[in-house]
Amino acid sequence: MTTDLTRAPRPTVPWIDDPDVRAGYGVDASLGATAPDGFEVVRARDEADVVEVLRFAAATNTPVVPQGARTGLTGAAAARPGAIVLNTTGLNRVVDVDPVQGLAVAGPGVTTQELKKACAQEGLFYPPDPASAASCTLGGNVATNAGGLCCVKYGVTADYIAGLRVVLPGGEVMTTGRRTAKNSVGPDFTGLVVGSEGTIGVVTQVVATAIPAPDPALTAVGMFPSLESASAAIIALRRDPHPPCLLEFLDERSIEAIQGLADYGFPQGCAAALLVQADRPGHVAPDLARYAELLSQAGADEVAVADTAQEADALLAGRRALHAALESTGPQLIEDMCVPIRQLPHLVTRGREIAAARGIAVSMSGHGGDGNLHPSLTVDPADPEVMDRAWRVFGELVDLTLELGGTISGEHGIGTLKAPYLRRQLGAAQLDRLRAVKAVFDPAGLMNPGVSYTSP
Ligand SMILES: Cc1cc2nc3c(=O)[nH]c(=O)nc-3n(C[C@H](O)[C@H](O)[C@H](O)COP(=O)(O)OP(=O)(O)OC[C@H]3O[C@@H](n4cnc5c(N)ncnc54)[C@H](O)[C@@H]3O)c2cc1C
Repeated sequence: MTTDLTRAPRPTVPWIDDPDVRAGYGVDASLGATAPDGFEVVRARDEADVVEVLRFAAATNTPVVPQGARTGLTGAAAARPGAIVLNTTGLNRVVDVDPVQGLAVAGPGVTTQELKKACAQEGLFYPPDPASAASCTLGGNVATNAGGLCCVKYGVTADYIAGLRVVLPGGEVMTTGRRTAKNSVGPDFTGLVVGSEGTIGVVTQVVATAIPAPDPALTAVGMFPSLESASAAIIALRRDPHPPCLLEFLDERSIEAIQGLADYGFPQGCAAALLVQADRPGHVAPDLARYAELLSQAGADEVAVADTAQEADALLAGRRALHAALESTGPQLIEDMCVPIRQLPHLVTRGREIAAARGIAVSMSGHGGDGNLHPSLTVDPADPEVMDRAWRVFGELVDLTLELGGTISGEHGIGTLKAPYLRRQLGAAQLDRLRAVKAVFDPAGLMNPGVSYTSP
């Protein structure tokens, strides 16, 4: 691709001229991300800025990297040489929350937590809940189809996006989806943009579905002597007619790392822990008592119910701190495997064997209730020999996941980090179809090239 920035006048938008500040926008939270040479950054203030940048990009054949809060773990929001990084955190206004319609309209720069708060003020609940909710943005959530801690009951971001405004390459604004309770006019392009990792256009407004608020959740934690007993508990809880709203799996290594940061209330010395919550209106206490019984029946050595909101908050905060806790033990190469729930024990035990065979320390924790774990490999990016072994483990975990009938990303997306493995999951024909669909919206291939299925 030949970029010719002289072919059009540079638009009057907030370019970031300071090279040090610009470098900060060059990376996301993926392992080893470093800002390349020769990229531009615009911090858009509104949709008009986005339109101007995409017009300019089309006129000068310049690639564009849409960017939110840069908490992504796959390299999808990181700068590439010659590209314009188009950051949308400045489009951070909650426009409207309508409790009658059950819809919230917000800019892509609004954080997940801010939208949740705005909905709560109207007695509504916006369920998506990535562990990074305090900092990540709706634009990033939409583009990655983010999940989080409550998917076991409520599903993922895609389940709560009713419609979008998206600026396409060249500057045309496309409106997708519905602002009504129902819509039978389709096919609907909302689903195409959700999970597209910035490869179709730039999201400038999100119409989200919000539901009636549940009761405040109660929390229990079960401590297990073996991975098998913890896995059996997950399966038993999934079969409950009113399953939990949170079902998180932590292995021994993760618990040690979390408690190493601070005392979040996790007992140590067990093979695995399950964190469980109930929030069904009018039934929270009996549901939690039933879950506690199921945990015991599956073989938990100990089941503790958080008696106070503070205890429950501490356990949740500990779970949210997992990424930071593991990072405190060394740099982490993080995966995002999702397998059919019954296969979870195989993913955990065989995944550990794979890592052990190559001498790489691994923790296998995550959203156990979804069969979605984040195998986290402790590595040394400065040591090529260690990285070679770690990437081999990474590839073997990909193969294991596919063999178990799973997907190589449950919620983080593919980005640049996993792009080399995507063919193993989708096959050549499916990749070709995806590229053909993208070409309808982005014939010049300017949107986030090199990410996911766009990678050669
Ligand atoms: C500590 C930690 C915990 C995490 N926990 C979870 C978790 O539980 N669940 C989960 O799903 N993820 C989790 N993540 C990953 C990350 O937070 C999510 O992927 C999040 O959705 C990224 O949002 P962002 O605003 O940071 O987007 P970025 O990282 O800036 O971008 C991510 C992708 O979105 C695209 N994008 C951003 N804005 C736009 C826009 N306006 N238009 C079009 N494309 C856009 C980018 O091009 C890129 O492809 C975690 C990350 C960290 C660091």
